[in-house]
Amino acid sequence: MENAYTDVSKIFGEDVFNDSAMQARLPKKVYQKLRQVLNEGETLDLETADVIAHEMKEWALEKGATHYTHWFQPLTGMTAEKHDSFVSAPMENGKVLMSLSGKELIKGEPDASSFPSGGLRATFEARGYTIWDATSPAFVRHSEGGAILYIPTAFCSYTGEALDQKTPLLRSMQALDEQAMRIVRLFGNTEAKHVVPYVGAEQEYFIIDRAKYLQRPDLIFTGRTLFGAMPPKGQELDDHYFGTIRPRIAAYMHDVNVELWKLGVPAKTQHNEVAPAQHELAPIYEKMNVAVDHNQVVMQTLKRVATRHGLRCLLHEKPFQGVNGSGKHDNWSLMTDDGMNLLDPGKTPHENLQFQLVLACILKAVDVHADLLRESASDVGNESRLGGNEAPPAIVSVFLGEQLDKIVAQIVNDGTASSTAHGGDLDTGVSNQVTIHKDATDRNRTSPFAFTGNKFEFRMVGSRDSIAGPNTVLNTITAEAFRDACDILEKSGDFEKDVKDLIRKYTLEHSRIIFNGNGYSDSWVHEAKRRGLPNIASMVDAIPALTSEKAVKLFADFGVFSETELVSRSEVKYETYSKDIHIEARTMLDLAGKKLIPAIISYAGMLANTANAIEKCGGDIYVQKKQIAKLSALLHEAEDAREHLEAVVLEAEQHPAGRAQAVCFRDYVVPAMKALRTPIDEAEELVDASYWPLPSYADMMFEV
Ligand code: ADP
Ligand code: MG
Repeated sequence: MENAYTDVSKIFGEDVFNDSAMQARLPKKVYQKLRQVLNEGETLDLETADVIAHEMKEWALEKGATHYTHWFQPLTGMTAEKHDSFVSAPMENGKVLMSLSGKELIKGEPDASSFPSGGLRATFEARGYTIWDATSPAFVRHSEGGAILYIPTAFCSYTGEALDQKTPLLRSMQALDEQAMRIVRLFGNTEAKHVVPYVGAEQEYFIIDRAKYLQRPDLIFTGRTLFGAMPPKGQELDDHYFGTIRPRIAAYMHDVNVELWKLGVPAKTQHNEVAPAQHELAPIYEKMNVAVDHNQVVMQTLKRVATRHGLRCLLHEKPFQGVNGSGKHDNWSLMTDDGMNLLDPGKTPHENLQFQLVLACILKAVDVHADLLRESASDVGNESRLGGNEAPPAIVSVFLGEQLDKIVAQIVNDGTASSTAHGGDLDTGVSNQVTIHKDATDRNRTSPFAFTGNKFEFRMVGSRDSIAGPNTVLNTITAEAFRDACDILEKSGDFEKDVKDLIRKYTLEHSRIIFNGNGYSDSWVHEAKRRGLPNIASMVDAIPALTSEKAVKLFADFGVFSETELVSRSEVKYETYSKDIHIEARTMLDLAGKKLIPAIISYAGMLANTANAIEKCGGDIYVQKKQIAKLSALLHEAEDAREHLEAVVLEAEQHPAGRAQAVCFRDYVVPAMKALRTPIDEAEELVDASYWPLPSYADMMFEV
């Protein structure tokens, strides 16, 4: 194997049309104009766009690019692209020029009718636009298909409704900027011009051997295993988490990193996760919209590179029953453009009134809109994870940790905070070690929304999902809380007193959302109920949060979603739920009917034949008889369950798309799927492995 030497600083961002590339290539005036557009939100004129487009194209051609694409994020959770070559109409002499005009750079017109729109776009009114998001840099991606220039865009309908994840995200960033600036000004900062949310998304994933993947139709069609008995060993020994990374995986991770670095994604941390075959990749945090784009790049890169290594990357939230699923930790903070993190408590948070106010506002936002946050983290794969005994519970709560908890207690009890607890030194009992200063707060891995020093970490998000949705909600609910606070405080005659009063009021009113205990415990479920916190177990029941009166007002106030857009999004979600479960159910029927039940029959038949032969020779067939009896019982149960599943799928298919259909899938089809899985998984444990037509859990998770 080639010894990998990589000069990361040389390759980092080499395929990105980033600030330094633009500065080097664009005429000074054009570059300055673009910076104004980016920093001050001015509009871009076509003349400037023409120059930028030309230089961007020249740069891309040098990288070997043949095509460009407007890259957008429709409501499929994935990204979409349509490639156009730079080739222009052939000239008289039969040659072509390679061109990209300003208009082509800033606007595209994909057919909008073939993307989920929840009724916003009928096929007869198909026009949609992709609009350049100049704040996220364009990049060239190399693959078997040559090199393509990717231009990040937002995707809207002819009438301006958002058809994607990016448009509302950008709108919410604007809203948050505006309201957070009011807070910053209140506390005397006259320099900052913007407040920008930053995000670091830790991505979990599974890696299995591609040849085995290709033998599992359930993985191919649904991304998760629909059958499979537990292997003799799962994750009970905790020996995989942070374990040594096996060479094959290490080589894969190296290639992933190199590809990401070239694309300007600051890949930073990699390690083995809790479940066998599970891993994590975390990049360094970036401006939110760039982080959202980069997370899509990360997911795609994980998949593409896996194929090259004869591996398969599973991004599904729950590829294997019985071991941990995968999530995405969305680390979120708010930074001014002059470098202050609004979520940094500083050394003495008890004196930091701005921080206390920001914190109180976030507590209020999360408490008031817990249902929306929960909804934002729901996708079909996350159904088998949230509320399971590993992922965060479906109940939204905030973990503050010891230090902030003490501050909150002082505010609540004494009206104001007067001291800060510090971590102190760490005593390991070994005398010659360097002295380590402890963090003021221990970690809590079970909280869905945890304060981690100078950021919040939203841990409910699904591994396969876009982080745009959750961040749009986070931004908007925070903007609302900031607005409400500023409406009061901007009129204040005695600022310090009024700030303290408001901090106390919000903290008192919303302290029920704070929970520092074990979020996985049953007692928390009871306690949360007592506190009146919502516990929305299923995505289907979370969706109505999108269109509640409260949500409609919230999103309208900040121009993030119109009511029509919200209704359309909830329709898309119901439909996605039904379609995904439908595919899973059909895959199960297919697998059970054509592969698994026949395999059990074959094996039982073989047992019967050999038992007959043995008996003729006077042998003992006690075991064979016992096994045949067990298998026959399981077969019977499986066939009944298969027929039942077939019937309920048929019933669900009768419903028109929408909530009622989703409810039918959840209440009838999902339990019927479970009922079919159980006897077949049990049979798998009895059947000779050479008869079983699918790679087992052990084959997939332990033999990578
Ligand atoms: P933890 O171990 O608490 O999860 P890490 O330091 O490993 O924290 O960071 C996890 C993710 O959080 C990384 O993507 C990191 O870049 C990101 N992160 C760190 N600081 C911030 C911040 N101020 N705002 C947003 N994300 C951050
Ligand atoms: Mg983390």
